Amino acid sequence: MSTVVKLKIRSDYIKLYQNKAPLITKESVTNPHELKKEGSIVHLVDTRGAFLAKGYYGNQNKGIGWVLSYNENEKIDFLFFKNRILNAINKRKSFYEDKETTAFRIFNGEGDGIGGLTIDYFDGYYSINWYSEGIYTFKDSVIRVLDEMGEYKAIYEKKRFDTKGQYVEADDFVKGERGEFPIIVKENGMNYAVYLNDGAMVGIFLDQRNVRKAIRDKYAKGKHVLNTFSYTGAFSVAAALGGALKTTSVDLAKRSKSKTIEQFSVNGIDFEQQDIIVMDVFDYFKYANRKNLKFDMVILDPPSFARSKKHTFSTAKDYPGLIKDTISITEKDGIIVASTNNASFGMKKFKGFIEKGFKEMNTSYKIMEEFSLPADFQTNKHFQQGNYLKVLIIKKTS
Ligand code: SAH
Repeated sequence: MSTVVKLKIRSDYIKLYQNKAPLITKESVTNPHELKKEGSIVHLVDTRGAFLAKGYYGNQNKGIGWVLSYNENEKIDFLFFKNRILNAINKRKSFYEDKETTAFRIFNGEGDGIGGLTIDYFDGYYSINWYSEGIYTFKDSVIRVLDEMGEYKAIYEKKRFDTKGQYVEADDFVKGERGEFPIIVKENGMNYAVYLNDGAMVGIFLDQRNVRKAIRDKYAKGKHVLNTFSYTGAFSVAAALGGALKTTSVDLAKRSKSKTIEQFSVNGIDFEQQDIIVMDVFDYFKYANRKNLKFDMVILDPPSFARSKKHTFSTAKDYPGLIKDTISITEKDGIIVASTNNASFGMKKFKGFIEKGFKEMNTSYKIMEEFSLPADFQTNKHFQQGNYLKVLIIKKTS
């Protein structure tokens, strides 16, 4: 058992923790230098030394640890992890019962009471993300909970923290019987190929499940669809299954082509009828403009930051420009699916970017639908940054 470090909270931050903010930030603590070993249990105390909360020390880009409990008597032991994880699983009953969906998140960090830890379920496999060395020190407890829950195929893990040159298991395998990848998971009846042994990006982003369903069920039929920043083409697959006339997927990463071919193929779609282009999206916009190409639907899902040879893109700065480029290649009455996972701004500001882009293009629009994180990505109402996903389905009306 590690020793407890008392972290003295600055007076102007005390309210924050009393109001159940889960993230422990460096600037809120007067004595961060007393933190030595990641994974140590910390007690947050006010200026007079009275207990506020307890948590663990773990360095993440977001902070220096997470609150685990506001109850002084609650022990942080195996039972603590067991209760939190079982509680989370109880909330996902409908996902377990849904035969058409076999991939979903069963534990979502601070949304389920333990920041820095997420667990995804992929058809009998678990994939754990550890976001700091601190949370990784609780690995044995977390694995034991999964063991006690019943049979599974295997556990994989992603250490999403700097391992300082230490040996990192080449294929992320923890225990069980190694999978043969790709495994094919189902999502609302669609198939997706998933690799749990190949780094943090496994082939599909589960948080876009509802958007893929909407594209398939309501927007794709008879459309020419452009999917930008397409990665493995998950949105293109949804569009094709929804009856799109043709999809065009554009991503700059070379691996995206074979991965997209694979996603089409596992769904019985002839990839040769689709366009899969390895190119910088910004070059593609120029190309499309030159050729006067127009699409009925354009999907925009850029990373928060991206650097290619020619461009540095930051959603917070460049989204209006991206929308403008998109407007010029979208048909009248066409649909733009605008998405961002940037946690540094909320929906209101995102809508402002859309407004700015359309205004500067002198074009009118109508927001048809809005999406945020799906139910399995539980969020913590005291931590808005955790509610990062924003998706708008927009109709270009002039
Ligand atoms: N929309 C995808 C996920 C996108 S992940 C999905 O739903 O699965 C972000 C992708 O953007 C990565 O695959 C990355 O290779 C790609 N990317 C980043 N910068 C790019 C650029 N300038 N042009 C094209 N693709 C880019």
